[in-house]
Amino acid sequence: MAFHIRTDDAEFWVRDGRITFSPQEGAETRSAACAIAGLVDCHAHSTFDLSDRGLAPGSAAVVTANLADYFAAGVTACRDTGGVSMAAVDAHDPRLIAAGRFLAPPGRYITSWTLPTTAAELVDAVGAQVRSGATWVKIVDDWFSPENGRVEQHYEPAVLAAAVDAAHRGGARVAMHCMDTASVEAGLQCGVDSIEHGCNIQPEQIERMAAARVAWCPTVTLVSGFMLGQELPDPQYQERARRFYLEELYALLPLAAARGVTILAGSDTIPPAEFWREIANLHRYGLDAQTALASATSAARAYLGLPDIGEGSPADVVLYDADPRLDPDVLSRPALVMIAGEVLSAR
Ligand SMILES: [Zn+2]
Repeated sequence: MAFHIRTDDAEFWVRDGRITFSPQEGAETRSAACAIAGLVDCHAHSTFDLSDRGLAPGSAAVVTANLADYFAAGVTACRDTGGVSMAAVDAHDPRLIAAGRFLAPPGRYITSWTLPTTAAELVDAVGAQVRSGATWVKIVDDWFSPENGRVEQHYEPAVLAAAVDAAHRGGARVAMHCMDTASVEAGLQCGVDSIEHGCNIQPEQIERMAAARVAWCPTVTLVSGFMLGQELPDPQYQERARRFYLEELYALLPLAAARGVTILAGSDTIPPAEFWREIANLHRYGLDAQTALASATSAARAYLGLPDIGEGSPADVVLYDADPRLDPDVLSRPALVMIAGEVLSAR
């Protein structure tokens, strides 16, 4: 089966699961306003039961079900930023770029999610993740202390630097969970590849991210809701974080984009069907519509080394009836989803 895809500004063909710009005999034409290679969720947790299906967290089955939900939503690739098991890594799916376990010290962060990892164990744990096939490593560097409720950093700078070095030597990259300025600072000093969340990040830190080519995955939909929607155990922190999400981020996200920081759209634990809201929210926080969309498409693909629409690329194609840059809500209603040349769903 061959397809001829025609949009307002592109034309290409699909045959044998690949994209080609050479016209193909007998191809079935599908017309739409816009075609992309599919959205990329750059901060996903595919070992969680994201859509409350009653599947066991950490199982191979839940990863498979989440990917099916992502595909139906027009999301054709994910970066998994931490699992409750190695199931995302073990899926060996080219559309799932996966970190292994969440690494955090014993008793810190959400203990049912993590691989408890003391400072003395961190470098070896990173090596073990990479040897198991993880192409990213997730380090959780701060969270509310179980003793005093305050957001505290987890690892010393020298330990983090050695851990990042171990990941890089193994060919993997490092994503660091940062809830506060101090952890962003630690991440920058130890050479991480991406800052996750980046709450209370400072303008001067954004300048250094640009210089060092550190990406930022702000996960604004989930984290702004978390900060604004409930009482946190650290009132002083919460006041700062609320100011960050109610005011400062509206200037900082456009600043980061203007300086050339790669901004990545990530859902965190929002169900796959709702991922598109992150793109809408990045736009609401001041990214222009093109940059907001690129954070889940072209910029995300380039950063993660994923194929985009091009000669010989796998035919992952998502069509929309209108331009999502004019109205991000369009992203919630893909007109057609194709994976490797097979139409999964079409309206
Ligand atoms: Zn996360």
